[in-house]
Amino acid sequence: MKSQTVASNVEFKHKQLEDIQLFINGEFVDAESGATFENINPFTNTVINHIAEGRKEDMNKAIAAAKEAFENGPWSKMKLKERVKYIYKIADLIDEANDEIAFLESLDTGLPISQTRNQAARAAENFRFYAKMVETKHNELFPVDDEFINYTLYKPLGVVGLITPWNAPFMLETWKVAPALATGNTVILKPAELSPLTANKLAEIIDKAGLPKGVFNVVHGFGETAGAALVAHPDVKGVSFTGETTTGSIIIKNAADTLKKTSMELGGKSPLIVFEDADLDRALDAAIWGIFSFNGERCTSNSRVFLHKNIKDKFVAALKERVQKIKIGDPMDSSTQLGPLIEKGHFNKVKGYIELAKEEGCEVVQGTVPEDFKAGNFVPPTLLLNAKNDMRVCQEEIFGPVMAVIEFEDEEEVIKAANDVRYGLAGFVWTNDIKRAHRVANQIEAGMIWINAQNVRDLRIPFGGMKDSGLGREGGHYAFEFYTEPKVIHVAIGDHHIPQFGK
Ligand code: NAD
Repeated sequence: MKSQTVASNVEFKHKQLEDIQLFINGEFVDAESGATFENINPFTNTVINHIAEGRKEDMNKAIAAAKEAFENGPWSKMKLKERVKYIYKIADLIDEANDEIAFLESLDTGLPISQTRNQAARAAENFRFYAKMVETKHNELFPVDDEFINYTLYKPLGVVGLITPWNAPFMLETWKVAPALATGNTVILKPAELSPLTANKLAEIIDKAGLPKGVFNVVHGFGETAGAALVAHPDVKGVSFTGETTTGSIIIKNAADTLKKTSMELGGKSPLIVFEDADLDRALDAAIWGIFSFNGERCTSNSRVFLHKNIKDKFVAALKERVQKIKIGDPMDSSTQLGPLIEKGHFNKVKGYIELAKEEGCEVVQGTVPEDFKAGNFVPPTLLLNAKNDMRVCQEEIFGPVMAVIEFEDEEEVIKAANDVRYGLAGFVWTNDIKRAHRVANQIEAGMIWINAQNVRDLRIPFGGMKDSGLGREGGHYAFEFYTEPKVIHVAIGDHHIPQFGK
């Protein structure tokens, strides 16, 4: 065990802080090539550990193990009752490891620990939710008439590839792993190269839960090598992806050769609209939380805030005051509200957008990063005031703690502007006029709209976006359907008409 002292002087010992291996066929192994890459702490920009770099040959090995486990192992043939026991066990083990998972996640990503604790708890719920769903799901019976009974079976796809981003790694990974396993598939997880730690913790938990070997595999590595090999492999029957829109588009193209089922959760540039009759205090809290929580590295963040002209000045004054008070700091400190961005390249990209906003004519107002924390990738909470929807900073996903503030005069104009963007993931409407709330929600082009609410997740609802924000949905029975093939059985129970050819 290696120990790691973080700036908050808390010392943790953990296996995931040693150099990390791949998890293939129930064993932690090095990459075939022996290659590794560095994993960097975003708070200090020092090396946490080294990660085995999986490539095509490692991916092939993992896929072969998953295929063998699916076809000849006990998993897909196991009684449902038995399979769900494993899934509940995983949930319990995640809960037991909550502090450890939150620590590893915050160390790896810079996300504040108060937020990663909650994410780990939600990850456990992902497993319970899908265990319950498969337990209670009934085969559909369609007795059409006296001649036939038809029923539908839901069969697992087989080997599925799950490719995930770095912004809420453990939560987003379990969001896919839970339904994939609960429905009887075997899994290859390709975590983001920038946030590998908790994926190995998940492997350790799944191993401890006693899942048969080969059912769950983790192959670390880069997108163009490990990720691409997973997508291209003919034995992989489905790929569920969360990440950037451009990557999603490449994956769909590469999956086409082997006719794979794909699910895409992609980028966003979501509007939050505040009408003059809204509860302004609550709208303010929600607008701030929605962009500055999770360091602004959140797909559903309200990166464009539209304010009615009659309340704009008051709202902006409050925003300016609040951004100064957001607590920037060590991700391991429970009182920290905003941590460092994932890595230097992303930090530079976000800073570049803030410079661009100035060139495009925005007034930039920011909080201040304390001197002690200059080593980290800190971008202070940032307001881009007097923004116009057609500016690049309002059209492109910045994926950082940067809120563009846009004034509007009437409903029709704000709906048009909210929709005038390539993305369509989320939208937030703040008004106390019930008709307007529903009218506007109905017209915003997004997969998910919250009225007078922040981004609260209900696992039963379809999660995902339209336009360039995605294809397909996760959550609820939508994920169940993605990871299964419906198969209809037609049973003749009478003597139905059969055409008499050649008689
Ligand atoms: P990314 O697209 O750069 O990488 C995501 C994953 O894809 C990584 O594991 C990466 O290694 C892999 N990858 C890259 N190229 C690949 C290829 N050619 N073939 C196969 N795999 C490949 O995304 P990111 O920077 O890690 O994540 C941030 C993005 O994710 C943002 O755009 C954000 O909006 C989006 N996101 C969307 C949702 C949602 O639910 N819609 C949720 C979270 C994040």
